[in-house]
Amino acid sequence: MLCTCKLLVHFLFLQLSLGTRPPPTVDVAVVGAGLTGLSAARKLLDAGKTVTIFEARDRVGGRVLNRKLKNGGVTELGAAFVGPTQDNVLALASELGLRTFKEYNSGTNLAYFGDRRIEFPSTSTIPPLDEVTMNEIGTLIFELDKLAATIDVANPWDHPNATTLDSVTLRDAAHSIVTTRDGRDVFELAVETIWSTESDQLSYLYALAYIAGAGNETSLGTFERLISVDGGGQESRIEGGTGLLPNGLADEIGREKILFSNPVQSITRQTSGKYLVQGSRKSFTASRVIVAMSPPLAGRIAYSPPVSAKRAQLMRRMFIGSIGKANAIYKTPFWRDAGFTGQVIDTVGTVRANYDDSDEVASYGAILGFIQADQMKALDNATEDEIQDLVGRDYVRYFGQQAADVEEWAIFRWDKEEYSGGGPTALAGTGTFQRYGAALKRADGGIHWAGTEASDYWPGYMNGAIRSGERAADEILRGG
Ligand SMILES: Cc1cc2nc3c(=O)[nH]c(=O)nc-3n(C[C@H](O)[C@H](O)[C@H](O)COP(=O)(O)OP(=O)(O)OC[C@H]3O[C@@H](n4cnc5c(N)ncnc54)[C@H](O)[C@@H]3O)c2cc1C
Repeated sequence: MLCTCKLLVHFLFLQLSLGTRPPPTVDVAVVGAGLTGLSAARKLLDAGKTVTIFEARDRVGGRVLNRKLKNGGVTELGAAFVGPTQDNVLALASELGLRTFKEYNSGTNLAYFGDRRIEFPSTSTIPPLDEVTMNEIGTLIFELDKLAATIDVANPWDHPNATTLDSVTLRDAAHSIVTTRDGRDVFELAVETIWSTESDQLSYLYALAYIAGAGNETSLGTFERLISVDGGGQESRIEGGTGLLPNGLADEIGREKILFSNPVQSITRQTSGKYLVQGSRKSFTASRVIVAMSPPLAGRIAYSPPVSAKRAQLMRRMFIGSIGKANAIYKTPFWRDAGFTGQVIDTVGTVRANYDDSDEVASYGAILGFIQADQMKALDNATEDEIQDLVGRDYVRYFGQQAADVEEWAIFRWDKEEYSGGGPTALAGTGTFQRYGAALKRADGGIHWAGTEASDYWPGYMNGAIRSGERAADEILRGG
């Protein structure tokens, strides 16, 4: 007995002298300080739990990021828009004392089909095309919404036809209704603008679940809400930029609880039942862990014992869209004087979907262009100057020579970001959601999974991130 005690004292002495003190312990370790992780942490702290947040970057916010402009304004390099039925993000903005303002949407939108330029009123989301195309697009949207209404947003994989729906791509489903070239082009543009991938990469079941999620408990999700400005996901913006949301949360939580620049490398269950969460710099033990990021990024962490086979497959199979943003800053929003909204869809440009990104009082002008899907991949090796040149030419084509007078560019490539891997969200091709989707949310022992992808409503959006973080916190608080 004496001998054992001596050994223990010797072991502790050795640990201290070697600087290998046992890691501190908290109730919950949250991995990821995006909106998901921060929302989870706030809820747990409010309930009296002790929490530590591990963050790979030197900042909070993940896919939400403000950049200061030389003119004193702010632009968003990631998420920018909020809209009706996004109750959680709107509530968070209001709690933090932030104000929203309407995205500029008065006047004429532009659509380019190759060299053909169509001007149409901003009251319509789809440009006027020939009668057959308009009828087919109408039928497709009606069918998408009708089928989406049959999906349980909490468990899309349990749909009675899940196997069939998950064996078909969104493109196959759409092309069985839309037969014209213009119709297919305009639908493809909408798909790329929502998901930043091509429609042949997406499972029909996954896409329908996403459409069903574009609503709330009292309003069914619709395709229209995903693509619209007025009444849709692009209706409003936040004064001072969406970056104020994660930063406001971090201030409330206390930044000392966040371990910055400390990517988690492994999560190991110990014989005590607690989890050792090992970051590159600091480690903690915790009774529960919330992994708050997209499944492909969560799959880079080593888990011991291994997580369920379904979860492992899901993390390997989901993939992230390719996306970049090219924001051009001007002295004034001069396109408004010519009657344009600044909204342009374009089948041939480097940027395929564009919006007015000026501040709330138009003290300066800005156009935001999304470089999405294959266009982003094609520019993999392009320099920032080359991207500016290509996008600048698109803007001149849309709005004339004045568009060449760019005061500042804010270009950001999410697919080059190690701890995002692309954006706006992780996606599922055929054969993934029906088989493995349930593992998006099903806890593995004391490891709880969160991230915008794991939300019922508005997955892929800031609203979904907040919902999934709060859901994971609730699971822990309920002892689940
Ligand atoms: C270009 C773009 C435009 C968008 N537009 C909109 C929009 O207009 N409206 C909208 O609502 N949404 C939009 N989104 C989507 C929105 O940004 C996301 O849905 C949301 O921010 C996801 O939050 P999250 O916390 O789930 O994930 P993330 O924000 O990705 O947070 C995950 C966090 O985990 C960290 N991390 C990763 N690996 C590790 C590790 N090993 N250890 C520790 N930390 C780690 C990351 O650094 C990150 O901070 C857009 C996204 C992009 C990229």
